[in-house]
Amino acid sequence: MTDIVPQLVDWYDRDQRDLPWRRPGVTPWQILVSEFMLQQTPVARVEPVWLTWVQRWPTPSATAAASAADILRAWGKLGYPRRAKRLHECATVIAEQYDDVVPSDVETLLTLPGVGAYTARAIACFAYRDRVPVVDTNVRRVVTRVVHGRADAAASSSARDLADVEALLPEAALAPKFSIALMELGATVCTARAPRCGLCPLSECAWRSRGFPASASPARRVQRYAGTDRQVRGRLLDVLRDNDSPMSRAQLDVAWLSDTAQRDRALDSLLVDGLVEQTADGRFALAGEGG
Ligand code: SF4
Repeated sequence: MTDIVPQLVDWYDRDQRDLPWRRPGVTPWQILVSEFMLQQTPVARVEPVWLTWVQRWPTPSATAAASAADILRAWGKLGYPRRAKRLHECATVIAEQYDDVVPSDVETLLTLPGVGAYTARAIACFAYRDRVPVVDTNVRRVVTRVVHGRADAAASSSARDLADVEALLPEAALAPKFSIALMELGATVCTARAPRCGLCPLSECAWRSRGFPASASPARRVQRYAGTDRQVRGRLLDVLRDNDSPMSRAQLDVAWLSDTAQRDRALDSLLVDGLVEQTADGRFALAGEGG
């Protein structure tokens, strides 16, 4: 196989998206914030929220000093709001235990709240330019196609994925750019449903040379959002975010009238997750605003 490094890196230099967290001067903390936000939310929705966020809370200590409710409000409609709570906890740990500096090694990063295997490596690589394999869904798909000649990666990641990417990594100075380029290719060209092979910078791809054999696994169902508990949780949080004072149960109930059992379940889960709390007189508020 030809060396894909120069092809990919040259393409990235030419065609990369201008994303604010990739610009010069962005700190490791601000990169960490972007990684938290990007875990389950598309770039276009993250960008405006991230820009406001890092201006308002540029450091871990500034973030830690904010109230839990302000953090949830600023998270807005990014979804999966437990991430906001974890980010707040992560900021507190870094401010208190690491002198306001994001740790640089994967082992220590993995001990931080909300930081999993992918995020730890992404921070080590993109913030500290460490030569570590960074493997997200996009990277797994590209490597599966280019190296193994199959349409889709296995449903869950494995140690094999890390080894595959490690084997492709160039020398240290170029490794971070290569890693981000691989991810960018998966996000913009080698996409899951409609890869744009005509625009691909790679001269060799095992899946293409085999004539694009169909996926062996059944097509994954697209997750619907409408009508899910996740949507109900979002509606309830929207109501609380828009009000500075605690709300009565009746005021909250109007957020979701079509299925009361589902609404109760969603509210319970928000209480269990610590995103919502109850006041002594039984009203509801965002975390930290229940008095
Ligand atoms: S040739 Fe097509 S399938 Fe192969 S890496 Fe490029 S975009 Fe993906």
